[in-house]
Amino acid sequence: MRTDVLRTLIGGLAALALSTSGLGYTFILNASTGLPIKWPGATALQNGAATPVLVPLNILLDNTTVRTDGTTFATSAQGAAQTWNALLGSMQFTTTISTGAPTDHNHVNELAMATTVFGSAFDTSTIAVTTTWRLGNDRTEADIIFNAGRTWDSYAGNLRSGVVDIHRVALHEMGHILGLDHPDEATPPQTISAVMNSHISNLDTLAMDDITGAQNLYGPPGPPLNDKFSSATVINNLTTTGTVAYTGFNTFATKETGEPNHAGNAGGHSVWWKWTAPAVGNVTVDTRGSYYDTTLGIYTGTSVSALTTIASNDDINSGVVQASTVTFSATAGTVYNIAVDGFDGDTAGITLNVTFSATSGTAPTITTQPASVTVTAGSNAAFSVVAAAGTSPISYQWMFNGAAISGATSATLSLNSVTSASGGSYTVVVSTGAGSVTSSDATLTVNTPVVVTPTPPPSSSGGGGGGGAPSVWFLLSLGAAGLARFFRRR
Ligand SMILES: [Zn+2]
Repeated sequence: MRTDVLRTLIGGLAALALSTSGLGYTFILNASTGLPIKWPGATALQNGAATPVLVPLNILLDNTTVRTDGTTFATSAQGAAQTWNALLGSMQFTTTISTGAPTDHNHVNELAMATTVFGSAFDTSTIAVTTTWRLGNDRTEADIIFNAGRTWDSYAGNLRSGVVDIHRVALHEMGHILGLDHPDEATPPQTISAVMNSHISNLDTLAMDDITGAQNLYGPPGPPLNDKFSSATVINNLTTTGTVAYTGFNTFATKETGEPNHAGNAGGHSVWWKWTAPAVGNVTVDTRGSYYDTTLGIYTGTSVSALTTIASNDDINSGVVQASTVTFSATAGTVYNIAVDGFDGDTAGITLNVTFSATSGTAPTITTQPASVTVTAGSNAAFSVVAAAGTSPISYQWMFNGAAISGATSATLSLNSVTSASGGSYTVVVSTGAGSVTSSDATLTVNTPVVVTPTPPPSSSGGGGGGGAPSVWFLLSLGAAGLARFFRRR
């Protein structure tokens, strides 16, 4: 059993001076799993059933006397439950207003006003208590006891001297039923404006911190934007070595036809991210900071029903740390699809961390491609490439018709006394430790001289014919030996 208290300030009037920046929400944790204790909404949401788990509250508060804000104690508490319901996805309170005394551990969640907590005296500073039962990570029962020794009303606005507002106290204690703890009593203490702080204040409704905390357990209403493979959230801020974090929910996410089982588990509520690797490097993806038992899968491919698995994981340490982690080597330009689901259909808030470490330096880009060249056999030819890779050292390998040319490892390829056999396709692979790129094709065209036997002198001096057609044609042999004995035909 857990007892929890909401204490008044000394004098009960002044609000605490609180920062409004940062997130302070904290959870009531199961020490053995490190996970928050929550209502087992995942069970209700398994197999795609988008129905929230219902948590009944039996309100045993006065429903006769009309208070300052027009409610009764019972309807004021009912309104607090409805305020939470409007913000939650996978669980909803249902309320019944009744009479009678509460009973501990009767599997009924009761709200009552009493002078003791099931026989135990209230601490002098305590104005209300939530008592809870759990089974594993699952909340199974919770009761709220308001201290009948106090003077109560229901009102909005600043606290009034000596009169406790039951509405904000109900919001606070229902936050405990959901699984929220006191941010101002965390280690280190969080200074944040929140109904869930241990001291009642002028804050009379839920603050963003309260809402965010509860949604990390039960999700917001409605499906997440990155439910489908085709609507994956694009990770666009990891373009160099570094780490980025994304948050989300899989509460009302679905599994698609043909979608793989992530980490070998059927799951049922997957959401998607995708990331294009900017260079060759090492990648770590994990779900540390998520609020449920995640599964994680990394894939390549463009169709959810035809994916290639790169890596997957259920638990970092099986059964203890129920976040997931994978590492893999990335190839520059490849799109990696990241799926986060829940083990056996579990759902809640997700934190996705992606760390990329380029193997070395910057991947190269070609700024000037090698140009095609036409030469005559026996001449020299050259190709050049211009590449950039920041300060990373660049290496080159020239290729001829797809095969590496031995020793051709500089930015310029020089070919001496080319022959027809040298004609063809030349490319260069430009590399750094962070990646490589292949140039476009450049063609070497070798014009081959054609030789003929010397034209015999004309037998008669015919006017200006410029010589007759050669009678015999020869291809010039390799090496152009004896070139001087021939003349070249254009
Ligand atoms: Zn409390």
